[in-house]
Formats: sequence, C-alpha cells, structure tokens
Amino acid sequence: MMFLLTIIILMLGLSLGSFANCLIWRLYKEESIIGRSYCPLCKNTLRWFHNIPLLSYIFLKGRCYFCHKKISWQYPLVELVVALLFVLFFWRLLDFKYLADESLWLILQKPSFYLYLIRDLVVVWVMTIIFVFDLRYYLISNFVVWPASIFFIIINLFLGVIWWQILLSMAVAVAFFGLQYLLTRGHGLGEGDIWLGALLGAIFPEWSLLITAILSAYLAGTIVGLTLIISGHKSWGSKLPLGVFLAIGAILALIWGENIVQYYLHLF
Ligand SMILES: [Zn+2]
Repeated sequence: MMFLLTIIILMLGLSLGSFANCLIWRLYKEESIIGRSYCPLCKNTLRWFHNIPLLSYIFLKGRCYFCHKKISWQYPLVELVVALLFVLFFWRLLDFKYLADESLWLILQKPSFYLYLIRDLVVVWVMTIIFVFDLRYYLISNFVVWPASIFFIIINLFLGVIWWQILLSMAVAVAFFGLQYLLTRGHGLGEGDIWLGALLGAIFPEWSLLITAILSAYLAGTIVGLTLIISGHKSWGSKLPLGVFLAIGAILALIWGENIVQYYLHLF
C-alpha cells in the first residue's frame, strides 16, 4: 500500500514538474497556457510520446525529435526534483503528523491529511516555478504569486488558522520587504519580492516558520553570494535574484520548521 501510494505521488510530481516547465516557458513568452506543447527551437508540435516526463528525455537522448537540437537539462531536472520533493513531503507528513499512533488506512480517511498534503505539495510546486523563473529571467511573475497567495489563504482557513493571523503575517512580510525596497531605493530587491513576501506570509501564518523561511533565505543568499565572489564569478554589488533564495527558504522552513519550533519550545 505504502509502495503504491509513493509511486502515485512520484508520478504526480513528474507530471506537475513537467507542467511547471511548460508554465515557466509560457509565462516568460506571455503565451496562453492552453494549446499543445512545442519545441521552443523548431516550433514543431510535440506528440504525446515526446512529452512523457523524464522518459521522453531519456529515449530522445536529450534531443528534439524533429530538429535534433539539445533540450535544456532544466526540463528533466525540474521534473525529477519536484517528484522527489513530493515523495519527501508525503513521507514526512505521514511521519510527523500521523503514523505514530494510527494505521495508514485510518489516516487516508481523514480530510485533514489531504489538506496538509495539498498544502505541502503546492508549496513545492509554486516555489519550484518561482525558483527557476527568477534564476533564469531575474523576474517573479505576479501571475504565479497572486493566485498562489489566495490559494494558501483559503487552505489555511480550512486548516483552522484564524483569518487575521494570516493577514497579519502577510502584512508583516510585506512591510519587511517593502521597507528594504524603500531603503535601498529598489536596488537591493525588486517589487516582485514584496509580493513574494505576501505569499510567504500566506503560506506561513506561524511567525516562527515565516522567520525561519526568511532567515534561511538570507543565509543561503549570503553563502552563495560569498562563494561566487571568492571564486571570481561575481563582484561586490552584483545582484543575486532574491526570489531564488526565498523559494529555497520556504521549502527549508516547511521541512525543518516544525523541528525548529519544537526545539524552541523545549528551550524556554
Ligand atoms: Zn525541435
């Protein structure tokens, strides 16, 4: 049973990873998300068997079926990472919240299990899109951030979080990034980062998790920034896309968050 569920989650992750790739390209090109997939190089419409996540890339040996040009390794990598993170969060949810005292069969009958699972998987999916988009194009798309914020407000309400707690968390995050935006006159971070702050607030109405997400983002940014400067790839004052690190921070907060909260609760 566990094996079967893991396979289902894995396949879901591969498909949604593939959809994320498609969405990133079409958002960048400002195209409609409806319509058949095509090769970005020769514009030939792909057949369904050219479009199977991961497998097509392997069978086609990383090249387009029509023009034989190389397909970006972003495609299989994103599919694989989303699938593996999906499985990780599925296992972690069972481990953390449930399996200690209940059978798998009982858990699968609980609505809360699906709410938590959907929340975690959508965080992974949305943050992957933000990560890749900001890394490649130095942009954060409001077409991703706004609907995602509304989604997480709704799911947190269903999970029993009080509405003003969500709004407060969003307001604090917006104020935090907005203040930095004003102080650096838009040089330190972009307007998209402010909206991304609102999204983080909507995902993490718990303060400890919101702070964990932001702190790990800045920590990761500092480590990567210093490494790039020391290795001579970047100079002082060159820009790093903050959205990339905030996406990592959000996923780290989701993974380690509850551990950290419990650690502090033991401390005081
Ligand atoms: Zn092609």
